[in-house]
Amino acid sequence: RRRVVVVGAGMAGVQTAVALREQGFTGTVTVIGAEPHQPYDRPPLSKAVLLGTAEGSAFDVDFEALGIELRLGCEALGVRPGARLLDTSAGPVPYDALVLATGAEPVRLPGTEGVPGVHLLRTLDDAEQLRPVLARQHDIVVVGAGWIGAEFATAAREAGCAVTVVEAADRPLAGALPAEVAAPMAGWYADAGAVLRTHARVARVEPGAVVLDDGTRVPAGAVVVGIGARPATAWLAGSGIALGAHGEVLADEQLRTSVPDVHAVGDCASFPSRRYGERLLVHHWDNALQGPRTVAAGIVGAEAGEEPPVYDPVPYFWSEQFGRFVQYAGHHTAADTTLWRGDPSGPAWTVCWLRGDRLVALLAVGRPRDLAQGKRLIDAGTPLDPGLLTDPARPLKAA
Ligand code: FAD
Repeated sequence: RRRVVVVGAGMAGVQTAVALREQGFTGTVTVIGAEPHQPYDRPPLSKAVLLGTAEGSAFDVDFEALGIELRLGCEALGVRPGARLLDTSAGPVPYDALVLATGAEPVRLPGTEGVPGVHLLRTLDDAEQLRPVLARQHDIVVVGAGWIGAEFATAAREAGCAVTVVEAADRPLAGALPAEVAAPMAGWYADAGAVLRTHARVARVEPGAVVLDDGTRVPAGAVVVGIGARPATAWLAGSGIALGAHGEVLADEQLRTSVPDVHAVGDCASFPSRRYGERLLVHHWDNALQGPRTVAAGIVGAEAGEEPPVYDPVPYFWSEQFGRFVQYAGHHTAADTTLWRGDPSGPAWTVCWLRGDRLVALLAVGRPRDLAQGKRLIDAGTPLDPGLLTDPARPLKAA
């Protein structure tokens, strides 16, 4: 019988195992995960789990009933593709098909490794360490005004902490959004009672303070670093599996790696997007939900001698920050026109990005209907009259 081994027990790994069973795979399925906990979902870690309004976020999956073997607290150390062996902390594991789903690791602030009071926010253990920090209502410094920084700052303000967010760029979300779109978001920090300091680089962390490179000392009972994440693939060095410039596994459009019978999915892998004509490295939840279906179909189809399906999603993610529900669909880098629906200083607005007369991406703040309608237009590639898009009272439709 065929043996599928999945490395990584996060969303992408677990969904791959589930999708294999849904698609009728009858061989053995083993999921290997480094963390000791029952597999869990990450988005609640910066929201309900952090605030203590939810105890945990374990996936509601009956692994036993599905015949999925979990090996937790077990770390993959290397792959020997020639021998079809995965080396782990518990010894070698043979596979017929291997799925890499090791996700991403947060980038550390140089010089802060092991410094007490400096936290990351990626794992359940991180969130559990941060809960009492919020409860103590310290002065908290958040390094990085990205998605994680904004969500953590939101929770910390809700918990009654004094929050300063220091950001090296001139605005929040500088890596993700153009300046004109991120500009209104800067005001959200102040509205929530958090201080946002842009152009602020951390020189060092001292007991009780973060020192910026202009000499400013910002009092800090605790520091939370949210400056990005990198694919967790160091363990693949020397395996022959091709990696890209950010350390991501270079998957093809069927989510197969450069090595036979090894697939890659979720935060650890990039794939070529037909739709956008470039390689995408997506670090969002929906990609870890959709990609696994393609991987499973590829594995199941290969047994039947079928051509595997192509993965070509309209990327989607959401963020909950400062009382707002922010949603994004598509990919805007090749857009030539930016259109606004609604007033960006108000509570609800949408930005549409077009290339020619096609919608390629949109960001909706408090307008979930825009998101749903816009995502359909992006997916279908429907030609649009841009003049009709700017009236927020009209549905986001072609005509
Ligand atoms: P991961 O969830 O990182 O899982 C990978 C797993 O593999 C980990 O458990 C890791 O321990 C394990 N692993 C790594 N290396 C090895 C190894 N060598 N051997 C064995 N196991 C290994 N996305 C959104 O769209 N919206 C949100 O609101 C949102 N909120 C988020 C909030 C937080 C705090 C975080 C951290 C992320 C959030 N995301 C959000 C992103 C989303 O959670 C990720 O895109 C998703 O978790 C990716 O799933 P994954 O399975 O690819 O990787």
